[in-house]
Amino acid sequence: MAASIALKTFVGLRHSSPETNSAITLSNPAASPHRRRSSTQFRISASKSSPRVTGRNLRVAVIGGGPAGGCAAETLAKGGIETFLIERKMDNCKPCGGAIPLCMVGEFDLPLDIIDRRVTKMKMISPSNVAVDIGRTLKPHEYIGMVRREVLDAYLRDRAATAGATVINGLFLKMDLPQSKTAPYVLHYTDYNSKTGGSGEKKSLEVDAIIGADGANSRVAKGINAGDYEYAIAFQERIKIPDDKMKYYEDLAEMYVGDDVSPDFYGWVFPKCDHVAVGTGTVTHKGDIKKLQVATRLRARDKIQGGKIIRVEAHPIPEHPRPRRVLDRVALVGDAAGYVTKCSGEGIYFAAKSGRMCAEAIVEGSENGKRTVDESDLRVYLEKWDKTYWPTYKVLDILQKVFYRSNPAREAFVEMCADEYVQKMTFDSYLYKRVVPGNPLDDLKLAFNTIGSLVRANALTREMEKLNL
Ligand SMILES: Cc1cc2nc3c(=O)[nH]c(=O)nc-3n(C[C@H](O)[C@H](O)[C@H](O)COP(=O)(O)OP(=O)(O)OC[C@H]3O[C@@H](n4cnc5c(N)ncnc54)[C@H](O)[C@@H]3O)c2cc1C
Repeated sequence: MAASIALKTFVGLRHSSPETNSAITLSNPAASPHRRRSSTQFRISASKSSPRVTGRNLRVAVIGGGPAGGCAAETLAKGGIETFLIERKMDNCKPCGGAIPLCMVGEFDLPLDIIDRRVTKMKMISPSNVAVDIGRTLKPHEYIGMVRREVLDAYLRDRAATAGATVINGLFLKMDLPQSKTAPYVLHYTDYNSKTGGSGEKKSLEVDAIIGADGANSRVAKGINAGDYEYAIAFQERIKIPDDKMKYYEDLAEMYVGDDVSPDFYGWVFPKCDHVAVGTGTVTHKGDIKKLQVATRLRARDKIQGGKIIRVEAHPIPEHPRPRRVLDRVALVGDAAGYVTKCSGEGIYFAAKSGRMCAEAIVEGSENGKRTVDESDLRVYLEKWDKTYWPTYKVLDILQKVFYRSNPAREAFVEMCADEYVQKMTFDSYLYKRVVPGNPLDDLKLAFNTIGSLVRANALTREMEKLNL
């Protein structure tokens, strides 16, 4: 989160979508670069020519019932689509810090009682343990929400069911691809809803389109040869700490940076209802993850002393989008697509948002389930997504490369976080997921400060290298 700092400094970046261009020529000749028009024109021409569905509405399966799947299924069902949501584990407790931006609460109409904590204070802690408070510019109503995923995901799935989606407790196994443009996809899954006991029952389901929301190890992605992505491994311990210690974390979260906690990411202590989540992640040193976790715990030791580890969890975090995110009538969303931001490791909001955006494209393209859809309808989602979020991903990618590369750079980064203007830009861009217009004078000051910090960091790095540190 803290690394959305200086977003403003980089907003001149222009977006483009390499995936869109290459995939269009592969599988949708009608949308070759020579014939590309605005998304709206493109969508209307596609839906006009698509045949009507007769005797029923369009059938769409959403695989995976995390934030991406829950939000996709709700939007589809509300839009008149016959919707199936397949989730393998209804009480799934996704390994996750559970931090969500304020805008998600409003945009997704989340009830406040599913939010465990409202964090208004964030401490950024440097390699030499210099702590900077970075919540000072928050307005009274602003906060970072902390949720438990088992609570959030179940809530979103239930809401999809209330909207009309058929929720299946099942493990998706594979799909048979259609032989023609209008033939159905056949999904094979193990159904745990049925009365056959724990082993479940093998079943199949015919649908017209599929949304793959089945997370980082997506089987849907494999089914369409979507290609791999680089990933980080994130490790987290949930620690129940004494009540007096919990008081400290009531509305406060911590982020630790340094080679000891992660060579390329950060360590965190996030508060939950009655415990804290302590974790770290890395792309480059996956084999050392347990050592890095011990170091994170050590850094926070005074504040979590007497705590008892109640859960240990680990999971991959995608580093960038998959080479392919749409093929014919199958689209990937959330972690399955690879929508986690670098630097901050944030993916819940982007999962929910991409699920909803993809579903909206299907609802619109099918005219509320009355017409068939094709790849061009799903590409409307992809184009809108890339246009909206590509700059955010790029900025965080750059910040990670610049500021997480050495301890001196991290010291400079934490130093920069003390600046009120930096804090305001950080929180505004994190909480509201938009680039807020800044003050040109402050922007200039920020640019100088950034350069100054980097120069100092480089000088310090050279000194440390001389000393062989
Ligand atoms: C340790 C850790 C900490 C994190 N902290 C944060 C944080 O604080 N804030 C933040 O914004 N992001 C955080 N993230 C990232 C965030 O967890 C993900 O980006 C987010 O969960 C993606 O949501 P999703 O719906 O795409 O996928 P998931 O949440 O992974 O959901 C996928 C769902 O699909 C189901 N599924 C998978 N395979 C199948 C199958 N074959 N059949 C049926 N169902 C299937 C799974 O059971 C699961 O419910 C963290 C990640 C990790 C690993």
